[in-house]
Amino acid sequence: MSIISDSLKRIKPSPTIAVTQKARELRAAGKDVIGLGAGEPDFDTPDNIKKAAIKAIKSGDTKYTAVDGTPALKKAIIRKFKRENKLNFSSDQITVGTGGKQVLYNAFMSTLNKGDEVIIPAPFWVSYPDMVLLAGGKPKIIKCTEREGFKLTPEKLKKAISKKTKWLILNSPSNPTGAGYSKKEIQDLAKVLVRNKKVYVLSDDIYEHIRYDNFNFFTIAQISKLKDRTLTMNGVSKSYAMTGWRIGYAAGPKEIIKAIGKIQSQSTSNPSSISQAAAVEALNGNQGFIQKRSKAFKERRDFVVRSLNNIKGIKCLTPNGAFYVFPSCRGLLNKKTKLKTDTDFVQKLLEKSNVAVVQGSAFGLDGYFRISYATSMQNLKKAMDRIKSFCENLI
Ligand code: PLP
Repeated sequence: MSIISDSLKRIKPSPTIAVTQKARELRAAGKDVIGLGAGEPDFDTPDNIKKAAIKAIKSGDTKYTAVDGTPALKKAIIRKFKRENKLNFSSDQITVGTGGKQVLYNAFMSTLNKGDEVIIPAPFWVSYPDMVLLAGGKPKIIKCTEREGFKLTPEKLKKAISKKTKWLILNSPSNPTGAGYSKKEIQDLAKVLVRNKKVYVLSDDIYEHIRYDNFNFFTIAQISKLKDRTLTMNGVSKSYAMTGWRIGYAAGPKEIIKAIGKIQSQSTSNPSSISQAAAVEALNGNQGFIQKRSKAFKERRDFVVRSLNNIKGIKCLTPNGAFYVFPSCRGLLNKKTKLKTDTDFVQKLLEKSNVAVVQGSAFGLDGYFRISYATSMQNLKKAMDRIKSFCENLI
């Protein structure tokens, strides 16, 4: 009999973390590896936020807090939703966790029964299906093609809903494609769910602030009749370059918020008191950092998309947000190149050219790969040169 539980056997370790780890190991072994696998901004946390954390330490803000967030942080989150999304919530509709990841995990753990289905549009963030599986649910993966802009259509949503569907996950702008849903696209999906009367929506808005070309961000609770059936998740990791601080939050129906708090009370308890104080400053303080940083990301996005589309066999859409591109390598998977899958492509690319990217199949869509351009222009230039020579040598 195995010591490891059956539920753990249903899941696999995060492939994006695995690629980052592999790149780290190769670098430690002396190889000049460029890692384009990591999903975190390369910018440092702004100084005003760091100072708020130091102040919290010095003033003894170092004890347990309320399990699902300090009153000060909940107040800052309520203000954020009002200011940026025109959404009104009370503090019993807000929960704070150790990263958005914990909030999502707790949401699934507290709502899914065995066999309950969760609709996950692919390409998806790698953790959704495994979190659902761990909670005993069934991921229902709906592939969204490049021609559809990698976005779910109302027709596909309608078809995907069954008696067992509990949640639909929406992630805009998306990891891994950077695709963002327009107001109309969200409202058209919402219409299907309003008619259905039962399915809940988990809106993962973690990349809300990283967007380009005047792309207008909307979240489903704000522009539909589904607020009572939506859990809106967000966090400070990506917007404020605070991945290591581990603060995420969500707003939604009291019943779910209470259930999430119950799990948290018996597992991790409150997120770090110091990180919560820092998150209050992030949400209430000067927001100028966001604009400045988005400008830098846009330059990189433009450079990367242009460079990739200049490579024979590679095709790349221009995304609206986040810091990822999701190019197709299908043109290079054939007998001549001896590459059959996107996994072959990314493995060979790492082996021959020392560039680490993640295969599209890890995100639920074969024939693609994900590049994170949250790294310096210098690194990106070197990486694009290497990818170009690698691909040209294949043909
Ligand atoms: N959702 C998406 C789509 C992500 O890409 C990530 C992080 O990579 C998260 C949620 C979780 O972020 P965190 O746990 O750092 O708040």
